[in-house]
Amino acid sequence: MTTFKVPRVRYRKSAELAAELGRYQHIALIVRKAADLAHAPFADILQKRLKAQGVTVKPGAVFLTEAPDEHGTTLAVGFADDAMDTFAYLELARKLSRFRPGVTRIALLAPGLKGSAQKEALRALVRCLYAQAPLPSRQTVRTVNLPAAADVYGPGEDDHALRAAAYGNHLARALSVLPENELGPADYVKHVKKLAAENGWRFRFLDERRLAALGAGAFLAVTRTRAAGAGIVHLRYTPRKALRPPVALVGKGICYDTGGVNLKPARHMYGMHEDMMGSAVALGTLHALAQSHAPFRIDCYLAIAENAIGPLSYRPNEVVRAVDGTTIEVVHTDAEGRMVLADTLALATRERPGLIIDYATLTGACVYALGTRMTGVFTNRPELTLRLIEAGRASGERVWPFPLAEDYEADLKSDIADIKQCTLEGEADHILAALFLKRFIAHDPTWIHLDLSAGRHKGGLGAIPTDTTGFGVDFTLALLADPAFAW
Ligand SMILES: [Zn+2]
Repeated sequence: MTTFKVPRVRYRKSAELAAELGRYQHIALIVRKAADLAHAPFADILQKRLKAQGVTVKPGAVFLTEAPDEHGTTLAVGFADDAMDTFAYLELARKLSRFRPGVTRIALLAPGLKGSAQKEALRALVRCLYAQAPLPSRQTVRTVNLPAAADVYGPGEDDHALRAAAYGNHLARALSVLPENELGPADYVKHVKKLAAENGWRFRFLDERRLAALGAGAFLAVTRTRAAGAGIVHLRYTPRKALRPPVALVGKGICYDTGGVNLKPARHMYGMHEDMMGSAVALGTLHALAQSHAPFRIDCYLAIAENAIGPLSYRPNEVVRAVDGTTIEVVHTDAEGRMVLADTLALATRERPGLIIDYATLTGACVYALGTRMTGVFTNRPELTLRLIEAGRASGERVWPFPLAEDYEADLKSDIADIKQCTLEGEADHILAALFLKRFIAHDPTWIHLDLSAGRHKGGLGAIPTDTTGFGVDFTLALLADPAFAW
């Protein structure tokens, strides 16, 4: 259903560049200052044209020109400085990674840069290259301008890790862009089952019958109207040797969100086939961690359903009972994400993970608060807040924290049930949604909740060239790789 096709990458010594020059149709290079161009191929031409065209050399600036050789090789130059963070490097590298038709071989270099600056620049270029792997498309005629091979001139990287991360992100995006008529709940579950078999993960599926037996009334309120294979997928990756406590990854997988009887207007419904992105990010993260042989057990829970409209649809003012016994007063049927996640989180925390991370395109309020460049993050361990921001900075997938202050919960007080699903006013809905979810986290594991406001950003974001970003895989990998992060 999805394939990950990327160029072959080879790391080479800078001294070998001169002999290879004639083989490239595109050379992308990152430098700090105009003087660094003295170390670049076609140095004279680059410096002359830079001056002639009056290009202002400043961090983030890009200069594109053509070499006077037989291919008319594209020379894509980007300027960096010491103050640039990973996100800024990726934004720059992405602009240097647009290939023209017929490109077969490219070179990536950072002339004049040394040590960690050189590594950061080259890593950004390789990440942007891998992010170009084409997504599924149903266009009859389609051109993909992606080289078959790339030579990176600089010290070798852990290419396996970069590829695993890129593959995980690609998996998340590829599933997200598939239309609902190809990736409805039943198709999605089937695809995940196949992926689990290929990767040796244990696969369990709690279908609607089993969820009913468990008493998962919050989940089933959403799926009642359409028998289309909804349920909770539970995947388990077991390491050869577990060195750390188990981690649970949970994702919202609403394959289409009409809003339910509180029907969305057209402008807000369009694009709602991507309302399963949270589950795809959880799956992509599991894939990347498993490929890198993570030394801890990972349980991945995908809450797969559709928020459809029909005679059996759940309605405002209904009271339903979640799997942990909590009664919920339904207020707005478009707040279905927190309903399916309530039961999924309750079931996931029964297995006593040390850490639980959930991903969901959950609220419009988070987008209003942050825009679509960063994702909102919540945690029940406020002392982790700076570490979360730092993982965002290190990965280039930036997050920003919101409070889980308990006094906000007064807004969710119900006259008839234990808790209201949400409010009609919608004020601070991202905070109320997180507080609602917190109620279903049993046994107090470290909990991190990502409200994926950056799941979609027009024109791409960081390394990602498509509007659909698959945000969360790289953030999570950076967080879990932080040696100071204990769970
Ligand atoms: Zn919704």
